[in-house]
Amino acid sequence: MPVVNKARLMQLYSSLRKRFGYLNWWPGETRDEIIIGAILTQNTSWKNVEKAIARLKENGLLELSRLSSAAIGRIEQSVRPSGFYRQKALRLKGLAAYITSNYKNLDGFFSSETGELRKELLSLDGIGNETADSIILYAAGKPVFVIDAYTKRIMERVYGIDKEMGYEELQKLFMSALGHDTRLFNDFHAQMVELGKNYCRKKPLCAECPARKLCNFARHLQIY
Ligand code: SF4
Repeated sequence: MPVVNKARLMQLYSSLRKRFGYLNWWPGETRDEIIIGAILTQNTSWKNVEKAIARLKENGLLELSRLSSAAIGRIEQSVRPSGFYRQKALRLKGLAAYITSNYKNLDGFFSSETGELRKELLSLDGIGNETADSIILYAAGKPVFVIDAYTKRIMERVYGIDKEMGYEELQKLFMSALGHDTRLFNDFHAQMVELGKNYCRKKPLCAECPARKLCNFARHLQIY
């Protein structure tokens, strides 16, 4: 397995940060909105999530306490632009009902130790690793590294990481190299998304990419 240590990861982070600046994620004004966005973004683009969030806001449903008691049809109608709207409406209502019935508020829910909170989220319907970790990092402010499809692809191309490497193994690679730094994890993940969206696409745009000097894939193409 290729060596991916703190120095190499920080080199990548610095090159991205120079290009994109500090990104200050996640796009959402409240913790409720971040949690809702983390579910709505499953299998769709952020543009569609924004439309669904705007509708939830118009309908007075951009709060977990409101979602937990709202009729499922109203939630479905609001989140329709994000696709898989029936499934997502159920997931939103389920999570909102779980939090509001088991905890007084989000502070109570987030007061568990990170590993416990992760287990709890993963036990809920429709919440997988990426959604759980996005909620833990961006809404709870606890240090877990979020792995998404962009991050996986970039790690494979830049460092030659095995395509078969699973979510938790890849996450462990980041966290054992970088420690537990919420601010760094927050911005590093945001930088990876920016790189994936703008350059490291399915068909990569290596010639202009800020990571090309560090990238195995670009080296093989003799771009650098
Ligand atoms: S140089 Fe190419 S393959 Fe490497 S990270 Fe950039 S876009 Fe992706």
